[in-house]
Amino acid sequence: MTVQAMKFASEFRDPAAARVLLAAIAAKADRIGATREKPVHIMEICGGHTHSIFRYGLDKLIHEGVEFIHGPGCPVCVLPMARVDECVEIAETPGVIFTTFGDAMRVPGHRKSLMQARSGGADIRMVYSPLDALELARRNPGREVVFFGLGFETTTPSTALSIQAAAREGLTNFSVFCNHITVPEPIKALLDDPDMMLDGFIGPGHVSMVIGIHPYDFIPRDYGKPLVVAGFEPTDLLQSVLMVLTQIAEGRAAVENQYARVVPEHGNPVSLAAIADVYERRPSFEWRGLGEIDASGLRIRAQYAAFDAEEKFGIGYAASSRNVPEIEGCACGAVMTGKMKPMQCPQFGRGCTPEMPLGALMVSSEGACAAYWQYSGARAAAE
Ligand code: SF4
Repeated sequence: MTVQAMKFASEFRDPAAARVLLAAIAAKADRIGATREKPVHIMEICGGHTHSIFRYGLDKLIHEGVEFIHGPGCPVCVLPMARVDECVEIAETPGVIFTTFGDAMRVPGHRKSLMQARSGGADIRMVYSPLDALELARRNPGREVVFFGLGFETTTPSTALSIQAAAREGLTNFSVFCNHITVPEPIKALLDDPDMMLDGFIGPGHVSMVIGIHPYDFIPRDYGKPLVVAGFEPTDLLQSVLMVLTQIAEGRAAVENQYARVVPEHGNPVSLAAIADVYERRPSFEWRGLGEIDASGLRIRAQYAAFDAEEKFGIGYAASSRNVPEIEGCACGAVMTGKMKPMQCPQFGRGCTPEMPLGALMVSSEGACAAYWQYSGARAAAE
């Protein structure tokens, strides 16, 4: 990283600027009557934001009338158990090299995780990009190389580009097990939940780089709630909270872009074209802890069926056939919908730790429980 880049980042971590923003937030919260007993509930959707909030202690520094609700924006955390089981099934097929991002290795499945499958002899390799998997396929023509396509709109384009490249090259031993999901649909599902009491949203920065800010227009239009797309540094997040509170104080709701230095209003046209070419919507997709959500998952279009692991391995996705129960005692769904704080889960620090995760929120650093564990001092308390 260059000296200039460090300076750029440090400006967004400036304690003096953070204090000014915290004071402005406190004044605005007082003005709208937010208190510890009757807080404003602001959901940060993105797991990266959850991580930043805990890393910089923003949940403790901010006015007591502002409560962060940690949303379902960690793709590893919302991966349903049945899909992990299917990953293991593919990975244990003779002749397969199964490739995945590292943070998916320890997600618990019903039988086992990918990590446990690898210990049992399956050829499972961690990669940094689907292009690494593509290269493995080129070098191993006698093996089927499967890439575990996982993540929101941020990672969806790179998987699409790898499928397009495989098609151009005529590779016959590369396929993708597609579990890509989208952000706007679960927000709608949360807003439709009568038990959710949300006053506004911090919108995801990386996802919005791809899709722009307009896919969120339905939130102020149909539900009257503000959403501010935010960056990941502490002053980014504080400024975004202030922008949400300002909208509430002024009695208006809109989509605003705090992260305009990175997020284009209409997204990235090259990425959007690749997504449109390779994928289509599934009627619904299962989210761990949240259940089936309409049109929230992507599958590979028929024209690219030769690169679709679901086709190659005969694994269909039908909501009606999916009946894998969640692990007993796991409260991930309640945490993800803001109905419970991680430390209120009876398993936190007991049956569930980052070393031995019971629920998916403890696996990834972007999961709310892992972030609590790492930064809140809860680890010391539990020990
Ligand atoms: S502590 Fe573990 S089981 Fe409980 S909600 Fe968090 S991840 Fe799920």
